[in-house]
Amino acid sequence: MIYQNNNIKNKKITILGAGISGFGATKLANYKKAKVFLSNNKKFNNPFNNKIEKEFSHSEKCKDSDLVILSPGIDPQKNKIIKILSNLNIPIISEIEFASWFTNSPIIAITGSNGKSTVVKMLHEILQKKYTNVLLGGNIGISFSSNVVDELKNELVNSIHLLEVSSFQLENIKTFKPFISCILNVTKDHLDRHGDFNNYLNQKLKITKNHDSNSFVVYNEDDNNLKSVFKEKINSIPFSIQKKNRFFTNKKTIFHSKTNKKIIDQNKTNLLGEHNLSNILACLNISEILNINKKQLVSSLINFKPLKHRMEVVYKKNSFLIINDSKSTNLDSTNSAVKSFKNEIILLIGGYSKDKLDIDEIINITKYKNISKIICFGQIGKQIYEILNKKTKSILIQNFDEAILKSIEFSLNKKTIVFSPGFKSFDEFKNFEQRGEHFKKIIKNYFT
Ligand code: ADP
Repeated sequence: MIYQNNNIKNKKITILGAGISGFGATKLANYKKAKVFLSNNKKFNNPFNNKIEKEFSHSEKCKDSDLVILSPGIDPQKNKIIKILSNLNIPIISEIEFASWFTNSPIIAITGSNGKSTVVKMLHEILQKKYTNVLLGGNIGISFSSNVVDELKNELVNSIHLLEVSSFQLENIKTFKPFISCILNVTKDHLDRHGDFNNYLNQKLKITKNHDSNSFVVYNEDDNNLKSVFKEKINSIPFSIQKKNRFFTNKKTIFHSKTNKKIIDQNKTNLLGEHNLSNILACLNISEILNINKKQLVSSLINFKPLKHRMEVVYKKNSFLIINDSKSTNLDSTNSAVKSFKNEIILLIGGYSKDKLDIDEIINITKYKNISKIICFGQIGKQIYEILNKKTKSILIQNFDEAILKSIEFSLNKKTIVFSPGFKSFDEFKNFEQRGEHFKKIIKNYFT
């Protein structure tokens, strides 16, 4: 806490970045009567009319600040203005740090390389059974700050903040303290920003930095890095699809270890794949800490509809399936997708990357015997193909639409088509949603 009693009235606060979290922080700082200055590096539509001072390129004016709030999209290592501000010893904090100053409601914070959105959305359903206001925010399209403004303005009671937290949002936290932090897994991602895996892991681990004896961390014990950090630490609650902890599983059904009673069968849910079993275990452990009624919990899990673009079944005829997993932007999620099927699959991978490819990680995919063909597409397609071709039956079809049509041809209306690209979508699309929608359109046009 930088200001006593969080009093920021009349403090000069500069908000860097005019995206979802920058706008949220602006709203909150303004509500708390600070003098707000919103600085972005390009033109933006100002939702605050002209009430807020703003600029469209970071200028010297940022130096006239008591506090700077940094949006997660800005890389502090690469941004010149951040260097200048830190040299002036102006406190720089992240938006989630700022928002946390103004709420006393418990915070449940979920991080990990994969599965965050799925888990927060599941928990959102579950927690509504107990809390009047489950305020879902963070890296999920609505900022924590803007939820805190709602909470304050409307004097909400019996509230809980449920946050999806990215590694970028953890970069500048100081006192941010969740009641429960959950780390789902940490695999190679965002190394362009974090430099190497250890830096990335350390950013993720920061989520527990301010934990005390009243806080809990729920972590995936099947992830060796997490296991070695949290094993036997107080208030650390492991979950695993291999080992017996509070819960155990035979890979189909989850049981409670104390009673040996069945909790849930995965095939009663709409969630495919072992990775989703792991996501369910994370939710069960968090719900247990929060004392959520078991029956209600199970009914929320059974009724949960998977999010679009994550293992989404887009076509089904008898046992012939087509899966849209466009949100897969790293190879770990592609691995999870491939492992989810026992029958033969046609795998579509590719997209965009500016990083050096990790050859071992790509070759690793060839160990799955259920892959009948890999189709490589997009900007990165050729490079993947050259690595894979030595090991497995793969082809290169750079053009997106043609690659999809080819997968239908190869499937013979029998083999499951798995579109789990493993790379970013920016070669041809604005984001993974647009890529997934385009994929679905091609499938729909073909089959109708
Ligand atoms: P995030 O918000 O962390 O990106 P999502 O729930 O949106 O996570 O899923 C992103 C991708 O990762 C999808 O391809 C999804 O199928 C896959 N995925 C989901 N949960 C897991 C998990 N626990 N382990 C590995 N991959 C996962």
